[in-house]
Amino acid sequence: MSGDALEKLFNLLDERRGELIELTRELIGFPTVNPPGEAYQPCAEFIGRRLAKRGFAVEYVHAAGTPGDDERHPRINVIARRDGGARGPCVHFNGHIDVVQTGAGWTVDPFAGVVKDGRIYGRGACDMKGGLAASIIAVEALIDLGLSLPGTLEISGTVDEESGGYGGVHYLAQRGWFSPGRVDHVIIPEPLNVDRVCIGHRGVWWAEIETRGRMAHGSMPFMGDCAVRHMNAVIDRLERDLYPKLAARRTDMPVVPSGARCATLNINSIHGGAAESSGYPAPCVPDSCRMVIDRRVLIEESMHRVKAEVRELLESLAQERSGFAYQIRDIFEVQPTMADRNGPAARGTAAAIRRVIGREPEFICSPGTYDQKHIDRIGKLRDCIAYGPGILDIAHQPDEYVRIDDLVNSAKVMAMAARSLLHGAA
Ligand SMILES: [Zn+2]
Repeated sequence: MSGDALEKLFNLLDERRGELIELTRELIGFPTVNPPGEAYQPCAEFIGRRLAKRGFAVEYVHAAGTPGDDERHPRINVIARRDGGARGPCVHFNGHIDVVQTGAGWTVDPFAGVVKDGRIYGRGACDMKGGLAASIIAVEALIDLGLSLPGTLEISGTVDEESGGYGGVHYLAQRGWFSPGRVDHVIIPEPLNVDRVCIGHRGVWWAEIETRGRMAHGSMPFMGDCAVRHMNAVIDRLERDLYPKLAARRTDMPVVPSGARCATLNINSIHGGAAESSGYPAPCVPDSCRMVIDRRVLIEESMHRVKAEVRELLESLAQERSGFAYQIRDIFEVQPTMADRNGPAARGTAAAIRRVIGREPEFICSPGTYDQKHIDRIGKLRDCIAYGPGILDIAHQPDEYVRIDDLVNSAKVMAMAARSLLHGAA
């Protein structure tokens, strides 16, 4: 792209600063809280109506029968596609429209889009309605500039990212919406900060371990077998054997923060024994104790080995410890994913960051997952990255905000990256 055309593009985006603020506020105004999945349809239709005015063909995809989908909370996704004047690749911006609960501690109305001190406040301001708005404004500016645009631009607003993406990107990927040939490059404007290119994320395995015992009167514990003590033996084994191993298992994935640059395991919850009734604890030896573990998986690890490692630990306890009986149940898993940092989407975005922000971009991976997993693993589309305004640490918090300067800068980066990808120049 010539320097002159770039200047025009950036000037246009500077002129549209107010419009970008307004669009972000309008998106925040839809209380798309998930669960249960409020206001998905009006939010999707708002995006669709807007893009139709720029010549996009708009489709709404109802993910019927996916978790949470019912008459009151239909899972409605919007996909808008616009073919350019000549053949070329398809560049797709995917933003999730759902947000998490507001929670306590807000000092402003979470759905009012309050503008203050160069920031826009609201639930989803950062994760990720700001990024979605920036991608829409970026694409509109490219179109309005009237320069030749080969290839195809696509923007989707999808649901349920915060609950695994089953009614959103997962559903669409299964039905070919993200298949190579239909789409070539995907940028997900998640809040990873304006100077960072996120090329992937660690995987996840959630499982529930249950230890079993035998109930007895609490005054005679020797008559029973305490399931909580058996679970304590599990935790002791995790502490002594597994945690040091996981901490030593470093990854080449550039995960931030760096503490997450190894395999990790969190104990999400633990429940043992009967619940209190009318203020009195149960006077019994517990016969069951359940623990949910959250194991984060590196690209170098195989999911099979990750699970076997925990099973072997439980198995060895069963051999050594009298009365030890257990069950383990899979709850949820996601494979780790990492795009090529020299691939077109990463390279094109990095070049745009250098030009717009004037800094060397940082390539990172996310400690947690986002919709890239479905695009990669189900859609089989490898050239997918996340790039967007906002700071991840602020996501899901009270008084969530996005900086307006970051919004504008990220829109410039996305517009420049999209243009070079459309021209096959990245
Ligand atoms: Zn998000």
